[in-house]
This record gives sequence, structure tokens and C-alpha cells, in this order.
Amino acid sequence: MPLLVMKFGGTSVADLERIENAAKKVRKEVERGYYVIVIVSAMSGKTNELVGWVETTSKLYDAREYDAVVASGENITAGLMALRLQEMGVPARSWQGWQVPINTTSAHGSARFVSIPRDNLDAKFAEGFKVAVVAGFQGVSPEGRITTLGRGGSDTTAVAFAAAFGAERCDIYTDVDGVYTTDPRICAKARKMDKIAFEEMLELASLGAKVLQTRSVELAMRYKVRLRVLSSFEDTDETSGTLVCDEEEIMESKVVSGVAYSRDEAKITLVTVEDRPGVASAIFGPLADAGVNVDMIVQNISEKGHDDAHPGAVTDMTFSCPVNQVERAKRAVEDARAAGSIVYEDLVVDTDVAKVSVVGIGMRSHAGVAAKMFSALAAENVNIKVIGTSEIKISVLIDRKYMELAVQALHDAFELEKA
Ligand code: ADP
Ligand code: ASP
Ligand code: MG
Repeated sequence: MPLLVMKFGGTSVADLERIENAAKKVRKEVERGYYVIVIVSAMSGKTNELVGWVETTSKLYDAREYDAVVASGENITAGLMALRLQEMGVPARSWQGWQVPINTTSAHGSARFVSIPRDNLDAKFAEGFKVAVVAGFQGVSPEGRITTLGRGGSDTTAVAFAAAFGAERCDIYTDVDGVYTTDPRICAKARKMDKIAFEEMLELASLGAKVLQTRSVELAMRYKVRLRVLSSFEDTDETSGTLVCDEEEIMESKVVSGVAYSRDEAKITLVTVEDRPGVASAIFGPLADAGVNVDMIVQNISEKGHDDAHPGAVTDMTFSCPVNQVERAKRAVEDARAAGSIVYEDLVVDTDVAKVSVVGIGMRSHAGVAAKMFSALAAENVNIKVIGTSEIKISVLIDRKYMELAVQALHDAFELEKA
């Protein structure tokens, strides 16, 4: 049976009119002979509001109750979408995560899929229903509690259903008409790409491009799902948007294909740490136990090494993490110091940094990308605080106030506006 997955993000279901607009797109596919699994997000702004309510009620909230609250936004849009489709004469039924059931781990707030049995939806399709509207972002734990998949998780729900049901394609409808060379909201010259390789999309997503949740790209890559990003506000056909696909399917290949940014980063430095085996483990072990997502790490010889006050070797240890984890990170490091497992003189926290990255599979075979990146930033007088590299990306940590300038300068330097 020919089946499509169509996912509508928050802005695409932001009010009743937009839900109707999305429903019309679904009806069009049903008229063309498809069964459709529709995955919906909460109305835009809703999840933020729910998270705010939880945080105001309880600072160190119980993650099970966080999930119970924040998953609810999707329940509303799923029901409304099913009703709108019914009003249009399309046989549709809504499903919350537990009803499918979407079985996940019990890692509340960042749960992962365990299984999505097909039986219940298949039985409804066999009864004559053409559309299953599934609430994105949520699932159910082995203990029977509601879970959520992490922010942006509806993308991952969509890809998981496409894989589980062998969908012909997974279409992600959003408020931009595809994946761009960088966020079109902060760089007017950003260019829409017709195709992007899974690996590049994976890097862009994990480095901050929120157009797709990272995990959704991982799943699509693993299960060979045809994944497409397109606009819910325009008339679209099979050629619209951006296809995320295997590297081999792409003709054009540039050394750098995109620029990503992550606005809310923080940099923490432990000044004058003794330089001995085991010191990194003594610092990053407690951070991991506290659930801090450490990103970049730099260790450098402290200016104070080998002076009278510091006869042994000393080092400064710097790392970055999301800005909303700074308190937790500080607590973990200070507790370890109080327990005597690490010794340092000072803890310096900078909460006004952002990360800007360039990504491209061409970097594997081309030298000089870093040099070009650094000279473009130097030309704008942007100071680099930390550098990180991997096979297909280079990231820098800079002052947040220069973030947009840096993105635009790098987009220009690598001539990304040109196809
Ligand atoms: P949805 O609610 O539909 O899931 P999101 O807000 O999560 O939408 O993702 C879409 C947004 O991602 C766009 O509005 C855009 O600002 C942002 N974005 C960041 N980087 C890119 C990029 N490289 N290409 C397209 N959009 C991007
Ligand atoms: N509503 C959830 C969020 O805002 C999930 C999603 O939209 O993908 O994070
Ligand atoms: Mg999203």
C-alpha cells in the first residue's frame, strides 16, 4: 500500500486556519491514492509555554511530570487535525503516543524509540481509514509513563514512522521551503539547496541548524528513509524542497556546504589545575554524572606554571556546554573540589558565547578550510575563543554579539550563495 509520512511543525499548525491549510495538503495526497501518517507538533509557542509552567512550578522538577505536561501540546493538534480532515470528508483518526504504542526508553525529556508496532494503525487502515494523525514528540516508557523525545522531536517521530511503515517518503513541512546553506533568518544571501547529503545534514543539525532534529537525520540515514524538507505555506509538488539523501546522489559538491550556529553556549575555565595523569577524568567524570553535555574541550599550559607558587606543572582546562547547564556544571566542579578530587585556583564562567561552524564533506580532501575561516573572522575583528574540528566540520566559539556577523562573513568567504 503506497504510504506517505507528512510532518507539520509548530508554525504550520499554529492556528485553526493553518491546520486547515495543512489538512488540505494531506487531502491532496489521499486523493492521489496514498495512505498518510500525519505527524503533528504542538502549535508554535505552546511547548515553550508548557516548559515555562513546569519550571515556574518546580525548579528541580520531576522529569516524569515534565513529560506529562509538555507532551500535551501535541495531543491538541492531533485531535484538531483529525477533526478537520473528517470535516473535509477524509476518514482520519488521531493517536497519542501511548495508543500506538510508541515504545521508548524511560529517559524522560530525551527518550529514544524502542519499537513502534504497526498492528493498531494497520487495523484502522484496513477498516477504511486513510489517515492516521499521530502526536509527535511523545511516547510511552516501559513503566507506562508518558515520555518526550527532546526539543524538535516530532521530526524524529516522523522519520521513525516512515521507517516502521516503509513509507515512500517522509515529508517535513515547515516554515521555510527547504534546507539552506545557513539559516535564512540571519543571512539574507542563504541559498536553498535541492539536495543535501545525510552526513552534512547530520553535522548541520547537531551544530545548531534546528530545521531538523539531529536524531531524525540519524534515523533516516540508518533506515534509508527518503527525507524531504519543504514549505507548508506554498504550493508544493514532488520536486519541491530539499531532499536529504546519500552523498552519491549529489552532483554539486563544494568543499564547504553550510554554516551553522548555536546561540546559547557557555565557556567554563578551571584556572591552574595541577597537570598530572587522571586530572581530566577527575573533572569530566563528575560533569558527565551531573548530565552536563560538554562540547568543546581545550587544555593549555597555564601562565602560572613553574613559578615559585606553583612548583609543579599546572594547566588551565576550558570546556563549553549549553548555557542552561552552567549552574549544574559549576555545582559538579565545585563539589569535586570540595571533596578534594580536583584542585584549581579559580573558576571563570563566560555565558555570552556562541558557536559558529562550517560543514562540508569536501573538507575530507581539501586543505586550507580552517585558514580561510580564521582569516574571514579576523577580517571582521571577531576574536576566536575556542576551536574544534572533526573530519567534516570546523567550529569556533566567539562572543555572542558577533554571531550573526560571523555567519554572514563565513557565508561570503566560502561563496555559498553561488550554486
Ligand atoms: P518546525 O516548527 O516546523 O519544526 P523549526 O523552527 O524547528 O520548525 O525549524 C525551522 C527553522 O529552522 C527555520 O525557520 C529556520 O529559521 C531554521 N534554520 C536554521 N538553519 C537552517 C537552515 N540551514 N536551513 C533552513 N532553516 C534553518
Ligand atoms: N513541540 C516540540 C518542541 O517544540 C516538538 C517539535 O515541535 O518537534 O520541541
Ligand atoms: Mg522543529
